[in-house]
Amino acid sequence: MHTNMSKYDLFKWRLYLWSYPIIIAALCSNVLQWQNYSNLMKSIIIFLIIWNTVAWFLLFKRKYFKTVEIISLCIISITYLFVYERVLSQLNVSAYLSMELLFWTPLIFIYIFIVLKGKKGFIYALTLWIITLCVHMFYSLDLPNEVNYSYIQFHFSSIMYITFLLFSQVIFRSFIESEVIEKYAFKDFLTGINNRRMMYSYLKSEIKNKKELTVIFFDIDHFKKINDQHGHFIGDEILKEVTNVVLTRLTKNETFGRWGGEEFIIVSKGTGLENTITLAEEIRKTIKDHSFTNKLQVTCSFGVKQFQYNDTLNSFLSEADKALYLAKENGRNKVEVTK
Ligand code: GH3
Ligand code: MG
Ligand code: MG
Repeated sequence: MHTNMSKYDLFKWRLYLWSYPIIIAALCSNVLQWQNYSNLMKSIIIFLIIWNTVAWFLLFKRKYFKTVEIISLCIISITYLFVYERVLSQLNVSAYLSMELLFWTPLIFIYIFIVLKGKKGFIYALTLWIITLCVHMFYSLDLPNEVNYSYIQFHFSSIMYITFLLFSQVIFRSFIESEVIEKYAFKDFLTGINNRRMMYSYLKSEIKNKKELTVIFFDIDHFKKINDQHGHFIGDEILKEVTNVVLTRLTKNETFGRWGGEEFIIVSKGTGLENTITLAEEIRKTIKDHSFTNKLQVTCSFGVKQFQYNDTLNSFLSEADKALYLAKENGRNKVEVTK
């Protein structure tokens, strides 16, 4: 595979690999009405079958991806214009071709916008559309009124497709961007877990839903000393390691976040107070027994609090904070609970 292939190219590559055989099958199905085609049309169909098979094979072998894509775009555009011109010039003898043209036109515009991003796709599609418009104008005097009217509709629908595709690209791109922004707005940059904002809104919604909740606040003991003695970089590493150690102990019932600095929060849903205290004890022991970067020993203090029916979010959190403060007061590396 092209090692430098972007995610978008990879997506296109998969799309082509699946769609080329369908196009080849559609072309082969023309054999069913072979007698209706002129020799020239037959040659074009055979050429398209051969090219698409070669293109699929090259794509499958992961060779000349961009070249295949561009050549295909050129061939499709030329064929499209050629068939379009044929249909208009001899409408009475090849009306069935105009049906086929209608079926495939939207797909041609979609393909243009897949190959050429944004403005380029728009200009290319618009050029193609202007050419079809000119060809129609050229033949319009020879065509019956109702056919002219149908072609006017055809031009309107084509320009609608082009506009829609252009805007859907913009919408799609801004949607992806907002997803990325949202992801980073709710994640802690250093540890990759939920940040305070995320945990706060999570707690708010869970309290509203009247779920059974217990919270664990924990804080690294004497973290300032670690920073002072080993530097801020090692301090950061310890924060990441603590996060990873804690993650190994959590289940789907727990939601974990960094509350700020060296303070973390775990929200346990539907497990009950006793199980949450046991969990806090387990995490405390695991951290105490873990050998951190630079063979450092780290301990944490824990405060546990179960949500009561008369609690507010603020009283809930401040009681949990009190329990953590108690654990610090009682000598650190401890789990304390407030009712
Ligand atoms: P205690 O046991 O009472 O919690 O003592 P402590 O030293 O852990 O608490 P204190 O609040 O005095 O110090 C916390 C330190 O954490 C101070 C601050 O510089 C450091 N800190 C906060 N955020 C970060 C961070 O993102 N990276 C690093 N390396 N240090 C941080
Ligand atoms: Mg601390
Ligand atoms: Mg602290």
